[in-house]
Amino acid sequence: MNSIPRPPLDPELLHPETRLMHSGILRSQFGENAEALFLTQGFVYDEAETAEARFSNKAPGFVYSRYGNPTLAMFEQRLAALEGAEACRGTASGMAAVTASLLCFLKAGDHVVAARALFGSCRWVIEDFLPRFGVPCTLVDGTDLAQWKAAIRPETRAFFLESPTNPTLDVLDIAAIAKLAKSANAKLIVDNVFATPLLQSPLQLGADVVVYSATKHIDGQGRCLGGAVLSTEKFIMDHLHNFLRQTGPSLSPFNAWVLLKGMETLAIRVERAQASATKIADFLASQKGIRKVLYPGRADHPQAALAARQMKGGGTLIALEVEGGKAGAFRFCNALRLIRISNNLGDAKSLIVHPATTTHQRFTPEARAEIGIGDGLLRLSVGLEHADDLAADLARGLKAI
Ligand SMILES: *Cc1c(COP(=O)(O)O)cnc(C)c1O
Repeated sequence: MNSIPRPPLDPELLHPETRLMHSGILRSQFGENAEALFLTQGFVYDEAETAEARFSNKAPGFVYSRYGNPTLAMFEQRLAALEGAEACRGTASGMAAVTASLLCFLKAGDHVVAARALFGSCRWVIEDFLPRFGVPCTLVDGTDLAQWKAAIRPETRAFFLESPTNPTLDVLDIAAIAKLAKSANAKLIVDNVFATPLLQSPLQLGADVVVYSATKHIDGQGRCLGGAVLSTEKFIMDHLHNFLRQTGPSLSPFNAWVLLKGMETLAIRVERAQASATKIADFLASQKGIRKVLYPGRADHPQAALAARQMKGGGTLIALEVEGGKAGAFRFCNALRLIRISNNLGDAKSLIVHPATTTHQRFTPEARAEIGIGDGLLRLSVGLEHADDLAADLARGLKAI
């Protein structure tokens, strides 16, 4: 045992960078410095009475790793401290988090309103999967508040959005949409992957639930899948806790441990990638061969004022439309030597993807056009390479168009 117990500081006294290092530490009796990896599916009890008390929630402690695990608890507590949320639950992937956040409280007869511009799988869950269970949805242009309002029905119970959106980087007014959700007695769920917990705080803007794919910036080094749902203690205990326990989309302790170590460097990675993204967006906007650059940190972004109000920076992603449609976009990608073609994002390595033929391939051309995904559109996830090397690489692409 440590001889001098040192109670952790209240996270509210600490900056986010410090919370990423020191929040959510559950030190074992050995006093290890780095977080311990508890690769165990179960736990043992000294007495049968202890097992009984833990199973009936009368005594604290771990029971089974589908329900909870010390390494997972460290990940959850650290992310909750960063986000300023009362409670957090880790999940096996971002999609497990999204699906659980909806299924845990919706029932047949309820109705969902969602922004049309969504990560492909999120849109499938809302548009194709939920209706099978009697939960229809209305998809709206997320930037148009009148459409959110008009879509509300007496049975509307959830609003769902991501901001900035994938891949076109629209910025949605979370505070205004949260007010509409509240007036409808619906919960607003925000997928905050693109902004990261450092650049945007949806709960503070009035959202009820925040979901993450930790696969992206939180790992940030392309190693493992993970996800998280954050909300009030009440939402988690009334709805999510039991849903996750009984259905089992659990985050593995190993992945939780990798994500914990990823969080230690999250702030410096996001800061650096964002600084490079700012430079690269400006560089691209000054080049021939580019029709449009969409970056929430640029003054010419359609929602620049809202982005400045709602986010602490423009983020690490850029959307660009090149001349020459699909052929031009493919020539651009194929000429790159440093930036790799991949659909991951938030990675240390810069990655580029052509949404129309990959992440949004299953949509009709009309559905893609509706959310601004043209054949010449590319999504660039800026990583940690030197910005000048990235700009030189992009110049290779431009020359090839
Ligand atoms: C990647 C992503 C998801 C899904 O996360 P996985 O970890 O791949 O399941 C959900 N939403 C957004 C915005 C994403 O980028």
